[in-house]
Amino acid sequence: MQLLIGTGNAGKVREFAALLADLPWTIVTPDALGIDEDVAETGTTFAENALLKATWYARRSGLVTLADDSGLEVAALDGAPGVYSARFAGPGASDADRNALLLERLRDVPWHARLARFVCCIAIVAPDGRSETVTGVLSGVIERAPRGSGGFGYDPLFYVLDDDATLAELPAARKHAISHRARAAAAACGVLRRWTADGQAAEAEEDRP
Ligand code: IMP
Repeated sequence: MQLLIGTGNAGKVREFAALLADLPWTIVTPDALGIDEDVAETGTTFAENALLKATWYARRSGLVTLADDSGLEVAALDGAPGVYSARFAGPGASDADRNALLLERLRDVPWHARLARFVCCIAIVAPDGRSETVTGVLSGVIERAPRGSGGFGYDPLFYVLDDDATLAELPAARKHAISHRARAAAAACGVLRRWTADGQAAEAEEDRP
C-alpha cells in the first residue's frame, strides 16, 4: 500500500516518514510521481486547508494521501496569525520579521495573557473521496524576546512550561516528541491502522467462497 505525503516541502516529508515509520504503508512523494504544482491554501481553517491539499493530491495521484496545515494561534490576538502564520508579515518576510511583528502586537500584553498554541491538522483522503481529519495541539506562552537557535518559524518565541524552555532551545528529538505535528501524526497513525484493517477485512470478505 502506498501513502502519498501531499506537500512540496522536503523537510515535512522527512518528518512524516519518520513519524509514520511503523505503519505498513510505503511513503511516496509528489516529486517521485512528477507532481510539481502547488495547491493554493484558500481555506479559513487548518482543517479546510489540510483537506484541500489532501483531496487535490489524492485526485491527481490516485493514491491515499496525507496532508497537513499548521500554525500559531495567540489568544490575545483572537487566534491570529492562525492559518495566516506563514503570511503574517506579508510576502517575502522572514521568520525574524514575523517574530518581530508578533512581539510588537503583544508589546503591552502582560505575561499571564500571552497564552498561545501551535495547531496541526492532518487530513487523510482516499481517491474514492473517503476522508478523515485529526488535530494535534501544543500549548505555550509567547516570550518577550526570542531565545534559542533550534527549530524554525515562531519556535524562539514559544515558551513551553513543562520544559521551562522555548521550542528553539529544546533538542530536536524533544520538540518532535511533544509537537503539535507529532500529536496529530500519532492520531493519523490510528486512522491509517483502522483503514488498513478495514481494507484487509474487505479483501477477506471478497475471497470468501
Ligand atoms: P505550514 O503547515 O507549513 O503551512 O506552516 C505554516 C506556518 O506556521 C509556518 O510557516 C510557521 O510560520 C508556522 N509553524 C508551523 N509549525 C511550526 C513549528 O513547529 N514551529 C514554528 N512555527 C511553526
